[in-house]
Amino acid sequence: MGKIPSRAYPDTMTCERKHKVVVVGSGFGGLAAAKALSKRSSRSSTEADVEVTLVDRNNFHTFQPLLYQVATSGLNAADIAHPVRGIFHDSPGVSFVHAAVTGADLERGIVHLDGTSHPVDDVPFDDLVVAAGATTNTFGTPGVEEHGFPLYNLADATALRNHVLERFEAADVAPDLIDDGALTFVVVGGGPTGVEVAGALAELFSMVLRKDFKHLDVGRARVVLVEMLPQLLGPFSDPSRRHAREALEERGVEVRVEEQVERVEATRVVLAGGEEIPAHTLIWAAGVKANPLGALLGLPTVGSGRIEVGPDLNVTGHPNVWAVGDIAASIDARTDQGPLPQLAPVAMQGGVHVAEQIRRRIDGLPTVAFRYRDKGTMATIGRSHAVAELPLRIRLRGFPAWVAWLALHLVMLAGFRNRVSVFVNWAWNWFTWDRGPRVIFGGEGATRARASDRP
Ligand SMILES: Cc1cc2nc3c(=O)[nH]c(=O)nc-3n(C[C@H](O)[C@H](O)[C@H](O)COP(=O)(O)OP(=O)(O)OC[C@H]3O[C@@H](n4cnc5c(N)ncnc54)[C@H](O)[C@@H]3O)c2cc1C
Repeated sequence: MGKIPSRAYPDTMTCERKHKVVVVGSGFGGLAAAKALSKRSSRSSTEADVEVTLVDRNNFHTFQPLLYQVATSGLNAADIAHPVRGIFHDSPGVSFVHAAVTGADLERGIVHLDGTSHPVDDVPFDDLVVAAGATTNTFGTPGVEEHGFPLYNLADATALRNHVLERFEAADVAPDLIDDGALTFVVVGGGPTGVEVAGALAELFSMVLRKDFKHLDVGRARVVLVEMLPQLLGPFSDPSRRHAREALEERGVEVRVEEQVERVEATRVVLAGGEEIPAHTLIWAAGVKANPLGALLGLPTVGSGRIEVGPDLNVTGHPNVWAVGDIAASIDARTDQGPLPQLAPVAMQGGVHVAEQIRRRIDGLPTVAFRYRDKGTMATIGRSHAVAELPLRIRLRGFPAWVAWLALHLVMLAGFRNRVSVFVNWAWNWFTWDRGPRVIFGGEGATRARASDRP
């Protein structure tokens, strides 16, 4: 990985012109890259030698690991969203553009933007960092696009929360709808997201909605978790998987392993074995695929659309373009294994690494390979229960794992206000067995609920 001579990397840093870096996406990877680039280089003699333009179609950063808590009325949407401009108040070298990237002229170093509600000029770059994340992968399962509820962004989480609460309101006035599946919630995918959402739904029903709906037999509400592999939580050890399954079943979740969803209708979920489950709600937590932006920009992609990068995270064949996070097929130089999993720490460490490589190039140094530090995996299964597998073969289960999970997520959340708000909500929920934000705002959830009232 040598120095690339280019118009973008002048031999001396005494020139007036600042090095322009455009970062696409203010998720975990893009934010980490922009923050690291905004710090003054220790090697450089000039101050603020890099000018960063961060572009995102949303004006906020979303903390995806807690989306399921918004969907299950544990947290408010604003608790896990943080305005991007606020993050960079004290970083004069970083500016934000609220727009979607629609294409680029990679030869001339220009990114094309669509401001949707307002016109936005194209932005020039010397280096481009693509950190546009991923999107839901339905694997072409018929009916999932039309009738399923994905859980990938804040709009998905609030639509699902609306829909769940509306199903209870509908069943309250027409209890016959329960036989038709109004209170049956099928969660597809036994990974951490599926496990977390299934556990949280079961607790919402038994702890809170049972008290809210005094005339409804809430005990008839079902949560069915469908996983095609023989066990839940694939990346975890056997004891953690067993613990997770037992904890879910204690909460009343029906766990179906080695089952696949064949198709979905408005009020039915049909399994590959032929079983038909009357259900008005299907939550799709079965997989993600890379954001199609890589292909749109004309960058080389590998399996499931992830951008092909070299060991230093430089996009193959494009010396001034880098990719990090869920959208990149990054390899760990430590183990030579890849692509690395689509997880927040991979994106954050990748963002910092790319910032360092851009600075190394500016300083005339060769780039170095990305070495991922695996800090472990965790999943919650509801109130006071979690599994955590940490470095040094530390395995936690139950309450200690749950406390570790709470602490880690509080630390990772962007913004002090969000941390305080999440902490207060969690404390309130834990001590009162309540869920404050169980509100229906209408919108998409309401529309779908009415459609599924017509069996
Ligand atoms: C429900 C859920 C739970 C998860 N739980 C965990 C967990 O517990 N632990 C963990 O480590 N990981 C978890 N993950 C995965 C983790 O959130 C991702 O790996 C991480 O967000 C990837 O970061 P990123 O920067 O690559 O992309 P993202 O964080 O997804 O950010 C991408 C950004 O790009 C923007 N964008 C996309 N396209 C465009 C465009 N064309 N123009 C402008 N902007 C664009 C988006 O608006 C977004 O802000 C979870 C993911 C989900 C969906």
